[in-house]
Amino acid sequence: MDDEDISHPYDNSHRAFLQAFMARGTMTFSQAQPILAAIFTVHDQDEYKNGNSDEEPEVTRPEQVTREDFESYVSAVSAAISPFDMEIRSTTHQVSKERVYSLINTTSDPMTQLATLRSAEEMAFVRRVIDAMFDRYNSPRMEVLCLDGMQANKLRTAPRNEDEENGNGNGGNGAGENAGGGGGLKGLKSSEVEQVLRGLVDEGWFERSRAGFYSLSARALTELRQWLVDAYNDAEAGEGEWQRVKFCEACREIVTVGQRCAERDCCVRLHDICQEAFWRTRKERACPRCGTGWTGRNFVGEKAVTETEAYQRGRRRSGRGGGRSSLMEDIVDGEEEEE
Ligand SMILES: [Zn+2]
Ligand SMILES: [Zn+2]
Repeated sequence: MDDEDISHPYDNSHRAFLQAFMARGTMTFSQAQPILAAIFTVHDQDEYKNGNSDEEPEVTRPEQVTREDFESYVSAVSAAISPFDMEIRSTTHQVSKERVYSLINTTSDPMTQLATLRSAEEMAFVRRVIDAMFDRYNSPRMEVLCLDGMQANKLRTAPRNEDEENGNGNGGNGAGENAGGGGGLKGLKSSEVEQVLRGLVDEGWFERSRAGFYSLSARALTELRQWLVDAYNDAEAGEGEWQRVKFCEACREIVTVGQRCAERDCCVRLHDICQEAFWRTRKERACPRCGTGWTGRNFVGEKAVTETEAYQRGRRRSGRGGGRSSLMEDIVDGEEEEE
């Protein structure tokens, strides 16, 4: 009864589940519940109609779908797709703690997958957005690792002056405008920027927070992990030196939202969801590497901006919307306020 391979043959209900999975790219248990409920309902009706079951079919409600149901469908689908170089991988969301399941093509690298269905112009824009997250808005002073729609919109064309770029794949022809980075590309229109961002969110590569900040999703962080390290970290850097991509002291996954050591040059980071268990086993709340007291108020992620006084002040003054983007930029690019 418990043997999944025997009790869960692959049938139409699994095909329907796989189809829903493919359409979304990623899925959590709570997202799967209504999908599986609908599939079970149809499946039971079919069984009854075809005379395979005498039981009067009932409508399955989402909350009746159990985690075991979900897991058995995930494993049945995983087995069915593996001959086609596809795989389902799961990872824990660094904020919600939910397990996120992603459908992965194991033969092509994640950047190639990101590029599928996107034009060269769009991909160049996506690269500029990721560069902004991990380079421009990610410094020892402020690790924001995300950006809002207005800032993304400013990246719709390649920067005119490539001198400041960090050299990720730029050619050496930096003289004329739009020369570097874009290879003659003209960039996107504002409406296209919105479309690309929405697509990235829909496909599960980006997340958009309530405050309107775009960041890499759990899926992207898992799939792009090695790529991000190669692109943004200094392989020559010594142990403990500040790096752009940092890992949680507890779970060893990338931290783009969480807490940081109050010492600017120290690399120790913790997810909010990991920190409680981490401190439970320790006598004092001090950084395990440099010994600085752990404040829990030094943030990684959008809070690095939104929890600043300047942001709160500016937000009260400007109300919703207008001026917020330049405000964030002022804060990120601004002179040092604290000592
Ligand atoms: Zn963690
Ligand atoms: Zn430290």
